[in-house]
Amino acid sequence: MRTKSKDVSTVIIVNKNQQKTRSIQIKTKHLERFNKYILSALLVVICLGSSIFYLQKQNILKDAENQRLIQQLSKLKVSIPAKVKADNSATAQSYIQSIQGKLQLINNYLKKRGLKGFGTASTGDGGKAMAPQLSAAEQYAAYNDYLDRIVMVTAFTPLGYPHSVDHLTSNFGYRSDPFDASHAEYHPGIDFGGAIGDQVKCTANGKVIWAGWYGGYGNCIRIEHGNHLETLYGHLSKIGVKVGQKVSVGDVIGNVGSTGHSTGAHLHYEVRRDGKPINPINFLTLKS
Ligand SMILES: [Zn+2]
Repeated sequence: MRTKSKDVSTVIIVNKNQQKTRSIQIKTKHLERFNKYILSALLVVICLGSSIFYLQKQNILKDAENQRLIQQLSKLKVSIPAKVKADNSATAQSYIQSIQGKLQLINNYLKKRGLKGFGTASTGDGGKAMAPQLSAAEQYAAYNDYLDRIVMVTAFTPLGYPHSVDHLTSNFGYRSDPFDASHAEYHPGIDFGGAIGDQVKCTANGKVIWAGWYGGYGNCIRIEHGNHLETLYGHLSKIGVKVGQKVSVGDVIGNVGSTGHSTGAHLHYEVRRDGKPINPINFLTLKS
């Protein structure tokens, strides 16, 4: 390929020591663009340099973060065994005392319902059922959750007697109509004998959802306990609570009467699950 002479420039390189000269022929247009090439190369070098610097800086930051996490993990590793070790010795006693306190609370709930309760020593058997590899702290945590659930369920489950008189004058289910012995009548609750004015106590924590006249029930109180359970107290002479009021187990909520569809002073007591009456006998005592 022929090159026009005017398009080519000759660059002469002189070596000072060896007194040699070299000549290179470069196309003139390249020589004219030489400065641009140098500038472009410089830009590339600057970009590469910046990128490398940035990446190195990121790595340094990551290393610092990793170092910080490792330090935190090391601290945890140091603190965990120390805590567990302590739980297995000195503080274990305080944990057991806490458990005993909660069992006492359950006993109190049961006593308020007129039930006998239970000996706290018997719960020691539960410890044997625990996996032996669990530390004292882990066993305590498992016991604690279990007891919290029992306390909540017990407090909001109607148990025991709503009335100091435990003499039943009528059972749950079909019976002869007290107003007409020739007819059978479905009795959705149980009746306790008593005198007008006797105290009526609620059988679990809950919220009053009805306090007033309720057809054949006369003066009536209905209490919602959560867990799908509700209790109903009928034929009262006096109502001592209001709708929306929160009540605790053992609170006096009203008095025995003979209002509504009633032949004499008594307390009509119902336990309802999902709105449907169930036999309250099963809630008067604890059965296995
Ligand atoms: Zn009744």
